[in-house]
Amino acid sequence: MADTPRFLSYARQCIDSDDIAAVAAALQSDWLTTGPRVKQFEDEVAEFCGAKGAVAVSSGTAALHTALFGLGIGQGDEVIVPAMTFVASANCAAYLGARPVIVDVDADSLLISPKSVEANISKKTRAIVAVDYTGESCDYASLGELAERHGLPILSDSCHALGASFHSRPLGSVSDLTVFSFHPVKHITTMEGGMILSREGKYIDRMRSFRNHGNNSEVSERERVGTWYYEMQMLGFNYRLSDVQCALGISQLKKLPDWLENRRKLARLYTQRLTDVPGVIPLSTRAPSEHAYHLFVVRVKANEFGISRDDLYRRLREKGIGTNVHYMPIHLQPFYREQFGTRLGQCPNAEAAFSEILSLPLFNAMTESDVHRVVDAITEVKAF
Ligand SMILES: *Cc1c(COP(=O)(O)O)cnc(C)c1O
Repeated sequence: MADTPRFLSYARQCIDSDDIAAVAAALQSDWLTTGPRVKQFEDEVAEFCGAKGAVAVSSGTAALHTALFGLGIGQGDEVIVPAMTFVASANCAAYLGARPVIVDVDADSLLISPKSVEANISKKTRAIVAVDYTGESCDYASLGELAERHGLPILSDSCHALGASFHSRPLGSVSDLTVFSFHPVKHITTMEGGMILSREGKYIDRMRSFRNHGNNSEVSERERVGTWYYEMQMLGFNYRLSDVQCALGISQLKKLPDWLENRRKLARLYTQRLTDVPGVIPLSTRAPSEHAYHLFVVRVKANEFGISRDDLYRRLREKGIGTNVHYMPIHLQPFYREQFGTRLGQCPNAEAAFSEILSLPLFNAMTESDVHRVVDAITEVKAF
């Protein structure tokens, strides 16, 4: 074997023989799509997160769309969304004819700034999307207080934060609705997949109908009670998640506690080793939350480190180490500039971060020696 070390990607799935056996069993069962494993997966994730209800859907993006529909968002409404997130967090409002209002993040944590939310609330505001960026919980004490004062629901885009908590309360039990993604780079995977959790069990029927064309029952339910009759009562989509995918999700969920522990351990090691690398600074974390570490983001201060973020990205790639940038702020995306008139200067903290942030490798099966390899490579790049 050649001794070139394998390419270390910034994120990757972890699939073992138990997962494969679970998927094979589902493939040989009576149900390929909506069957008993969908409900089991919903119930198990809801229990893990302390939520009263859950709806599994075909992606995290579908989950965001379904959640905002569940909240009754529509034409002419405004939805507040932080600048530092994946485009889907804002697109879901646009799908429904609403206006995503992009607000700034805190300079240190890069989490949605409650002050910036407050400054952007208008008569048309109908919801706040809070993104638990990197896996760190937003400041739900401040956000909850102002949401309550304005009578607004909070939808958490917790696609980075399965297993995170705020003041010991797991995400899923904190906001009105919480969304997760099961894309292969996330904590657990169903290949494509997502879920909406409802803290109080509200909006569940409406969201379940939305995932199935707006029909008022599902095939498995009609078969159970012995009727062919259903009605379409609203315009929905086919956003169903299959039983086979849920079999994978159920199997993956069993390993989540160990994976979270590993991610936290690796993040501590990164933080400790990077104290000796001036100019490569991990994002600051806040005390009252337990971080789920989907991403380990550093800020590359070019004048201290000697090399820009983009050069570091390229040099690490040459050394077989994959990194990534999460994200170009939403308001700088051409679509948002053209369709919604967003502009440079609108969210200074997100813009300042954008030129410096880099996500270092972090995934379930990563080891401490991988972390040493990454930090050694960063140190070599600097010395070169
Ligand atoms: C992954 C992700 C999504 C979208 O999830 P998909 O399953 O890829 O559709 C939405 N928001 C955030 C913050 C994400 O990281």
